[in-house]
Amino acid sequence: MPPTATIQDIKAYREKSEKGEITPHNLPPCPRCNIEAHHFKIHAYRERRFLIIVDMVVQAAHCPLVRFICPGCGKTVPFYPDFAIPHKHYTRQSITGFAEKYVASGATYQQAVMDKDEKSLPGYPDGEKTLAPSTVHRWVTGLSRLVNTTQKALDLICQENPISSICRDLAQWVVSRSKYRTEGRKTCLLNCFRLLATEALFKIVFNLSIFTKLAINCVFT
Ligand SMILES: [Zn+2]
Repeated sequence: MPPTATIQDIKAYREKSEKGEITPHNLPPCPRCNIEAHHFKIHAYRERRFLIIVDMVVQAAHCPLVRFICPGCGKTVPFYPDFAIPHKHYTRQSITGFAEKYVASGATYQQAVMDKDEKSLPGYPDGEKTLAPSTVHRWVTGLSRLVNTTQKALDLICQENPISSICRDLAQWVVSRSKYRTEGRKTCLLNCFRLLATEALFKIVFNLSIFTKLAINCVFT
């Protein structure tokens, strides 16, 4: 099965949001006036469209996202559920999952998008277009730019667990020579891998995605 959030994930979040159960307590303090996040109030709900993969077909699913407001200074901050990445329609599971399939293995982009069991690419409902290998290339590049987010997440992990070996482990990782032709792309792949490995550990340590905790610091393009 290709990596994706499920319709159940999205429905469950919609129900939580309708019951007013989305809380800000996991967010960092207000970046403007430093008030602790548990004081934030709900400011608005905005309906967002997500793309999930069901039986190898890309489908849209809608879900409201919450914006909180800081009572101290009026700054509003977004809250991203576990399946969302700022400014992206595909879910976190798809973006990080396909990127990881490429970066952490010998796969080509084509092989990274191809489902091994189905021997096909996730397609769009019109039957003509599929999820393009170039989309995964773009996600890898986008993730690789989140260097500051990765660093903040590493700092939080090391504060929580000062003997964590993650920084040493990351320093030892090397990019396969077949993956790049330029030093720039090599750095890009390294940075993407660092983010993905940090995200995996972050989820274990905090039971949260980096994108939920640090969305406010994410400039994802
Ligand atoms: Zn504030």
